[in-house]
Order: sequence, then C-alpha cells, then structure tokens
Amino acid sequence: MRKQSLNVPHGRLIFPLFMPDATFGVVRSVGSEDLRRCGVQAVVMNVFHLMQHPGSSVIQALGGLHSFSGWDGPIVTDSGGFQAYSVVRRNPKLGSVTKKGIVFRPEGSSRKFLLTPEKSVRLQLSYGSDLVICLDECTHVSDPVQVQEESVARTIGWAKRCKTEFERIVKKSHRSKELRPLLFAVIQGGGSLELRRECAERLLEMGFDGFGYGGYPLDSKGNLLADLIEFTRELVPAEFPMIALGVGEPTNVVRCAEMGYELFDSSLPTRDARQGRLYVFNGDPFRRSVRLDSDLYSYLYIQDKKHIKSREPVSSHCDCVTCSRYSRAFLHHLFQMKDALYSRLATIHNLRFMTLLMERLKEDSNDE
Ligand SMILES: [Zn+2]
Repeated sequence: MRKQSLNVPHGRLIFPLFMPDATFGVVRSVGSEDLRRCGVQAVVMNVFHLMQHPGSSVIQALGGLHSFSGWDGPIVTDSGGFQAYSVVRRNPKLGSVTKKGIVFRPEGSSRKFLLTPEKSVRLQLSYGSDLVICLDECTHVSDPVQVQEESVARTIGWAKRCKTEFERIVKKSHRSKELRPLLFAVIQGGGSLELRRECAERLLEMGFDGFGYGGYPLDSKGNLLADLIEFTRELVPAEFPMIALGVGEPTNVVRCAEMGYELFDSSLPTRDARQGRLYVFNGDPFRRSVRLDSDLYSYLYIQDKKHIKSREPVSSHCDCVTCSRYSRAFLHHLFQMKDALYSRLATIHNLRFMTLLMERLKEDSNDE
C-alpha cells in the first residue's frame, strides 16, 4: 500500500509533496511566514552549502536549522553528495572521490573539505534534520559502465556506513519514536537497468525508511529520463516513499507523481520566479478541463512590454497574496526597477502554483 503521509519530528509530510530548496537555509527572497501562507509543508536544505556558509559550528551553536532559520516545519537535508560531485566533475583539480569520502575545495575557497558518509549523517542530525539522506556517488547517465559500477558499489558501501552512524547517534540520544528522523538512501546506476536493480535490492536488504532516485533526472536535451525513473520506482515496493531528487518542472512533477513518486525537490520554480518566468494554469486547476499534461500551464514573462499597463493579476486562478493584491503592471515595474519586492512576490506566486498543483494531484488520486 502506498503511504499517504509520513510523520516526522517537526510535522507531517502529506503526499504528493513539492519541497522548495532552501539551499543556504533560506528559500531566497521569502520568509517562513510566506512559505506557510503559500501552503509549503517542508523545505530542503543542503549540507554541502551550509557547511561552508555559515558553517556547521554556527548552526550548531544556534541550536540547529529550525531555530536558526525560523522555519518550524519539517526540514529535509540533502547529503551534499550531488553538489560535491558537481564541483569535482567540473574541475577535477578541485577535489576527488575516494573510498573514504569526497574531498573538495569549493571554487574561490582556500579551505579543503572532506565529506565522509559518517560526517554527512552527523552534520544532518546535528542540524536537526527531519529526513536525512545518505551520502551517495552521483554519476551522469551517459558515463561509461565502469564508472556506473564503481558508483553503485560506493553508494551501497556508503549507505551502509551512513545507516550504522545514524543508528549509533539516534540510539545514544535516547529519542522517543516520534522524534526519530527518517533515513533515506539513494538509488544510483546511471542508465543501466541491471545496476539500478542491484543498487535497489542491496539498499532494500539493508532497510531504510525511503529511497531517492539518484543522478540528474534529465537527459542532455533537457527531457525527463522517464523510462529510467519509472523503472527505478518499480524496483521499490509501494509502501516505501520515494523522492524524485531535482525534479521541479511542473509537468515532470506530474509525470513522476503518476509513476508513484511522493516527494519532489527543486530550485527551479523559485529561480524561474526571480528571473521573471511565472507559472500560470491554463484555467481553473480544480476543473477537470485543465488536463495534467503539457497543456497544464503557460509561462508568463513579466519583463514583456505587454504587461506595462495590465491591471490583471498574474493568474486569475491563484489565491496567493501576489495575485490577490498586485497587477502584472506593478510586478513588471518592480522587475524593471530591480526592486527586492519583485523577487518576493514572484516567488510567492510560483510556490503557490506548485502547492495548488499538489492539491489537484491529491484530488485526482482520491477520485481514483
Ligand atoms: Zn498567485
């Protein structure tokens, strides 16, 4: 049976669930009260970035991410593996992946960081994470098979070390069952079905609360790797929730939700908002006439001159504060003036679009 929700120490995750990326502890331009008003239930924060800014000792001294950031809802933390991998892949001089972990020196920094499976788990728990993700070794779907094999072997070995460390710390802290965070492992294997299967089977044997689809979810042309993502979901029994890491384009989210993924995280909707690309449903999202396919929504480019005198809201089918109170003309003006209020109002709107989309998906699955 597919789970409808999961309880975590700081609340409940109700599926399907889109989580914006609060990479440095903040969803850029908006505060936690804005997130609440948009219907956001949980955010994803990133160990790789937070260990650099403001640094782990600062977060720990301030009592963890919840009290530091003012967000009292669930926080999912990312292991940092994907970002460390991106640094090393872009420029091998900046680091390497070894049996021990990932050593890297972020661009522009003189400091070297070592991210081991144990350290990643320790940091995530010390930050107060509700859902901890195991360190994995990411690859590109087009990497040769030998690279994929090594990545799967390492991802399995690291998941085991993460689980041991997680259990050691949780046991030592004498937490009640309700205050125990969840631990998810990531399934790698690139484009190889056999390796995906092997990775999933080995991780399932070890036992985790849920799993993630690992690797960049799009091909080099920007298309969703739908067959591979669906195949990976089918490797995992339905009662284990799965997160489609990095999936955030609305129609891709719909497709992955239909495959059985429960959780999504991406910085795309908020980044698009800041850059002037706003999402607008092609009709009332709660009417069946709005189909959940490529006709679902359109982009509204706020910098477009046609909005200069428009009294219309961004979307007449949206109940966010931006659409309730401000016109396209005003947003266009704020964008031209590079006023910080533009980013806040635009981010609020795109986030509300995503939470409305989740509500529609829930309705559809209740009707089935
Ligand atoms: Zn709106």
